[in-house]
Amino acid sequence: MAFSVLIVDDSPAMRSFIRRVIDLSGFEVDNCSEAADGVEALCQLDRRWIDIVLTDINMPNMNGEELVRRMAEHEMLRSVPVVVISTDSTETRIERLMALGAKGYVKKPFLPETLREELERVLEEANV
Ligand SMILES: [Mg+2]
Repeated sequence: MAFSVLIVDDSPAMRSFIRRVIDLSGFEVDNCSEAADGVEALCQLDRRWIDIVLTDINMPNMNGEELVRRMAEHEMLRSVPVVVISTDSTETRIERLMALGAKGYVKKPFLPETLREELERVLEEANV
């Protein structure tokens, strides 16, 4: 089944890279949108149905942790799986994000297949 994805990262180059990995992975994506921070991401999530969110942690305006927190508090957005993609891989940070509701974690820099495998796992678990 085709799904819609939202890529949240303050680096345009990283957003393009993630988009290309998804494109080349053979996933059936019917919509791939981007946001530069948590504020923009919540705007996008408000406008259309998103099946999975891939988010950075360190971003201006609203970081990824706050985005995950806001989504978890939201009746509709609570069920949308979030995969965190960040250089910050301290155990407490990852544990906190998972406790808040994130479903997956990929440490930057990453190999394309690592992201693909994590996406597959999370999408399967979420039954998207
Ligand atoms: Mg960043």
